[in-house]
Amino acid sequence: MAGTEQEPAYLTFSFRVKGATSGKHLVALGNATNTVWNYVIQEIIDEFLTKRKEVGRPRLRWRVSRGPRRSLGWVPFTNQDVEISGSIALFRGRKIRLWKHREIEGRFKSGNFSQDARGCWYCNIVCEIERQTTNRTHVVGIDLGHKTAAKSADGLELPQARFYRDLEDKLAEAQRRDRKRQVQTIHAKIANRRKDALHKFSRAVVNRSGAVFVGNISSTWQIASGAAKATHDVSWAMLRNFLKYKSDHAGVAFAQVNEAFTTQACSECFALSGPQGREGLAVRQWVCSDCGAVQARDRNAALNIARLGCETLGLKGPGSRVL
Ligand SMILES: [Zn+2]
Repeated sequence: MAGTEQEPAYLTFSFRVKGATSGKHLVALGNATNTVWNYVIQEIIDEFLTKRKEVGRPRLRWRVSRGPRRSLGWVPFTNQDVEISGSIALFRGRKIRLWKHREIEGRFKSGNFSQDARGCWYCNIVCEIERQTTNRTHVVGIDLGHKTAAKSADGLELPQARFYRDLEDKLAEAQRRDRKRQVQTIHAKIANRRKDALHKFSRAVVNRSGAVFVGNISSTWQIASGAAKATHDVSWAMLRNFLKYKSDHAGVAFAQVNEAFTTQACSECFALSGPQGREGLAVRQWVCSDCGAVQARDRNAALNIARLGCETLGLKGPGSRVL
């Protein structure tokens, strides 16, 4: 299926910066950036500030360089300022070594160095890439679930990975002992593992699809929102975002669909014969009282999402009746 014509697509490559020396140098540059930024913004917002004073809130949040409430470091650059050669970023004559875990594709346009809460620096390189096209016709609906984090109608599964729970004990221990640095490291580790799993799942989905559809909100998740830990383990917004931009780059159709009733509706006959509400959460498999089809919960929902997606975009796909 052809993508829509044809604005440039951008992809950001993010590499961790090696070494403490580069870090110090970047902190200094970050502080300089803050100064310039604040100066420029000061000029720009004089008018705004006056307005603010009128409503009695004159204080604005600036980019702060020092102290516990400092802004995380940020140094923007263009392709004029930085030259990437192998795993080295040459920034105004200074070599900054990167953990270059993948090759850069496309045309380097701009980027920035950014700092995370742990103080680690990253080099983020924005490249313009060519959109691809595909003639695959396979349609994949994805159900965001509770037992499995996400499941496609054709059986691809993102297990409800225990990113948080696996490290929960360590985290509690570190918090109890007030080891701030370790707490930050564990949080970063959880986030990285989650991101990695979401990247792999979304890549696998997009690589075999002509169209990808995903529910706009997880109804099971809403019902089960008491389970706070599950919210640590899943990151629907991130998964949707990955699916969207990867589909976009690959020329794969993508849409979010309203997933209301996708759990209850039978994907064979469209009767609302499936499990409902909080009690229904435990029901993994059911028999449709209208047509007798045996439905596995997640697969049935994913099939409904695929069908709704095809209807939304006017594509031919599995089934074609409005719920
Ligand atoms: Zn049925």
